[in-house]
Formats: sequence, structure tokens, C-alpha cells
Amino acid sequence: MLRRAFSPLTRLYRFWIAVVIGALIGFTVNAAVSEHLFVVEKGDTLSSYFNRLGLSNQVLLSMLSSSNKNVALNNLSIGRPLVIRLDQDKQLESLAYSITRDKLFKINKKGKRFVTTINETNKPKGLNSTTVTINKSLSYDAKKLNVSPAVINTIVRVFSWRINFKKDLRKGDKFIIVGDNTKNPVALIYKSRSKNVSFFSYIDEYGNVDYYDGSGLSVSHSFLPAPLKYERISSKFQKSRYHPILKVWKPHRAIDFKAKKGTPVFSTADGVIKQVKKGGSLGNVVYIQHGNDHLTVYAHLSKFARGLKANKKIEQGQTIGYVGSTGRSTGPHLHYELRYKGERKNPLKYNVMKHRTLSQRDLSLFKKRANFILKSL
Ligand SMILES: [Zn+2]
Repeated sequence: MLRRAFSPLTRLYRFWIAVVIGALIGFTVNAAVSEHLFVVEKGDTLSSYFNRLGLSNQVLLSMLSSSNKNVALNNLSIGRPLVIRLDQDKQLESLAYSITRDKLFKINKKGKRFVTTINETNKPKGLNSTTVTINKSLSYDAKKLNVSPAVINTIVRVFSWRINFKKDLRKGDKFIIVGDNTKNPVALIYKSRSKNVSFFSYIDEYGNVDYYDGSGLSVSHSFLPAPLKYERISSKFQKSRYHPILKVWKPHRAIDFKAKKGTPVFSTADGVIKQVKKGGSLGNVVYIQHGNDHLTVYAHLSKFARGLKANKKIEQGQTIGYVGSTGRSTGPHLHYELRYKGERKNPLKYNVMKHRTLSQRDLSLFKKRANFILKSL
């Protein structure tokens, strides 16, 4: 569902955004370019935006001192949108800000110089967006509308945590790409007969760009640290350990959790069952795919949860099986792996690294901005 729980914004806001984005339509389409929309909040300064985007104060100063017209940027007005575009080298390309409802302020970088223009605008356009209606496949239908491959990749990356592209997509489903054709559109919305899913790009206080749903939850929300209630860790993630059955030193790029036979084992993140297998050295084993790049493995199970089969959608915390000692195992335990792009990662450390939540301040800014975008469509 589209979340509408935010405080309502005035029509005036919609107008501002329309003016700025409308003015950006004329820009060249370049997938490596990124566009960042800020809605001015109390206490915001240009330098805080520049910081977030990794632009130096020096760039800010040289931009500001390039024209006396730039005094217009000294006091940003609360609630107005400001768009900063970066080129493929993450350097400042342009800045757009609406000074009043009919005056658009723009700075463009031309070679080493900055050029300021102030234009009267009288024909506001809606927030620029592209709607891809599924007829054949996402990539086929999106390409027909000249959506760049970079944007298609972003859509797949963002939605593959919530949508099974093979199973869920139906003719007539829609993907709405908000913003112009840059690698990270300001918002991505999926609409089908049964559900709406919206994601919004946001740069957090550390400068990380990621997509979040309307409640501020990161797309790639983190993995739970352990897939069960365990007694202890019987074998850590390590480069070399003595294998009790094979009697050789081998790397153990997994965690073994000791637990009683029959202890429920659950998925550490939302995902889709990739494979349910019996009989190998891992015994009864479940492989779960999370998004494009992550896979978790749960091995030596005594039995599987009911109805478990490939392509079935699984939620974080959902039981998938029970601890056992099947396969090459000396006693009841769970062998758990977390793989990123095929490479085994230490689940205990990886989780901390990937954990991404918005700070209180970021969250309130984010929600205002998300609401702003939805209203301006
Ligand atoms: Zn193991």
C-alpha cells in the first residue's frame, strides 16, 4: 500500500517541485549522472547539502562567488525544493532552486566556470515520470520507452526484495519511475491489481544513497544475526579448522549453531526459496535468495517446514525447518551461511556492516520528502 500517513503538504509545495523538475526536463539524459532532490527544512544550509553529496566547501565557495546573483542562495526558504545534479565523476553539474513561485534560479557548470541564470517560469509541468506498463517483460517494455539499462538494474535491485520478478509480474502491472532518466531516480513505484510498493531514494547523514519504503525502512534491510535460538556457537567463521569427520584442516566459512534437535530454524531476511535439497553432505538443506545478490544456506535440518518448495516467498523470521544432524554432521546443529554474490561472508560481522536505519532527523526529512514526491505526481 502507498503510505499516506504523513502530514499533508500544501498545493504550493507541489507547484514548487513542478517548477524545478519541469525545468530539468531539458537536461541531457545520462545514466551515470545523479540527481538529488532536497526539500528545504529549518536549519538547512547549502553547505549541509554539499556535505551530504561529498562536495567540498571549496566547490561551494567558488560556485557562490562566481556571480552576485548567487546571494539568492544565502537564505533558503523552508519547504522549497532544491535539486543538485552530479556528473559521472560525482562532481557538481548543476543546481536548481525556485526563489519564488515564478522565478527559477539555476547554476550550471560550463567547463571550469559557473553560469547563473534566473528564469521566469509560467508554465509549470508535473513531476517528470515514466510509466512502464508490463506487456512482455520489465526490461523489454522499459527499453521500448528508452529507460536506460542502469535504471532497469536499479528497479530490479530495489524491488527484488519484495517482488518475485518471475512469479508475481502480470500483464498490465506498472512501474512508475519518478525523476528523469538517471541511475537513481528519486522514487520508484510498483502498482499491480493487488499491491502498491513505493521506494524513495535518500542520502543519509553519512552520504549513503539507498532506497527506503514509505516508513523509512531500507530496501536491503538487514539480516537477523542468527536463524534460531541456539545454545552456543560450536564452530565460528574461520579460515582453518580441524574437520571432525574428514580429519583435515579446512576453512569454515559459515557459523555452526549448537541447538537441540527439533529447534525451529527461521529465515534471517525476506526472500524466496531457491532450493530445498536432501542427501548431500549438507543433509537436508534450504537455500534462500534475498534480492539479487544475497543467498542464505541452512543445513543439516531434521525436517523441513510444511509446504516448503522452490520459488515460495519467505518472510524474515518465518520457520523453514528444524535443527537436526543429517548429512556430514556429528550431532544436532545448524550450519548457516550467508553469501554475497557467491562469496561466503561472516554472518555475524556482515549484519552489522549492512545494517542501515535512518536517524530520527533523517527519518523526518525522509518522510516529508516521500510525501512531497507522491503528492506531486
Ligand atoms: Zn558448519
